[in-house]
Amino acid sequence: AMKKLAAGNWKMNGNRAALAEVSALLSAHPAPGCEILLCPPTTLLAEMAGLATGSALLVGGQDCHAKGSGAHTGDISAAMLADAGASHVILGHSERRADHGERNELVRAKAEAAIAAGLIAVVCLGETEAERDAGETLAVIGAQLDGSVPAAATGSQLVIAYEPVWAIGTGRTPTIAQIAEVHAFLRARLTAHIGAEAGKTRLLYGGSVKPSNATEIFAVPDVDGALVGGASLKAADFGAIVAAL
Ligand code: 13P
Repeated sequence: AMKKLAAGNWKMNGNRAALAEVSALLSAHPAPGCEILLCPPTTLLAEMAGLATGSALLVGGQDCHAKGSGAHTGDISAAMLADAGASHVILGHSERRADHGERNELVRAKAEAAIAAGLIAVVCLGETEAERDAGETLAVIGAQLDGSVPAAATGSQLVIAYEPVWAIGTGRTPTIAQIAEVHAFLRARLTAHIGAEAGKTRLLYGGSVKPSNATEIFAVPDVDGALVGGASLKAADFGAIVAAL
């Protein structure tokens, strides 16, 4: 069976001193039963990748440009992330969709660029609270998946992260039944795009995952891991989540 994936998204947090948390995590969990991915700010990527060498830790970016190179001041290409030691890149996070107006078509172009550069594309989607209240959750995430997932991907080139916008950084989570409903829906919808390959794609839940709720969330069918924000910043918290997997 596919190993689960404990993924941490540091967002715009962490300076070089925070790399001590990574060393602490690796010494506390030298042989974890899952894969571990940390996506730090780009300034820390190469140094974190150095720490990860020979360990179970994978590192990733938090965004990339859809183009390979050129006159795009402030942007980073997928090949640059790979060159710095990344194996993954988070794309279409709801904070990028909100802060930078990223839409599905752009997210898909970035995912295609990431895969072409040899990275695994971690495509994020999720409904707002208003959309859930209106009963539109599955329609919204279905449309996001249809629009954001590259047509030509294999299952293992993709990770899909279901992150309800209202659960991010709020301490609130969907019920176990709601998570199960969405993940089963995502597996079926992805199968409509890439067929049986969808069985090789990890579907992550994200939004207020912490040590106290990780075990019950990871027991949900079609939950293949988590994308963790705040609780990925400290070795003790993230280590407890890794241990739950
Ligand atoms: P929190 O775990 O802080 O709620 O963030 C989730 C998230 O957005 C991960 O990408």
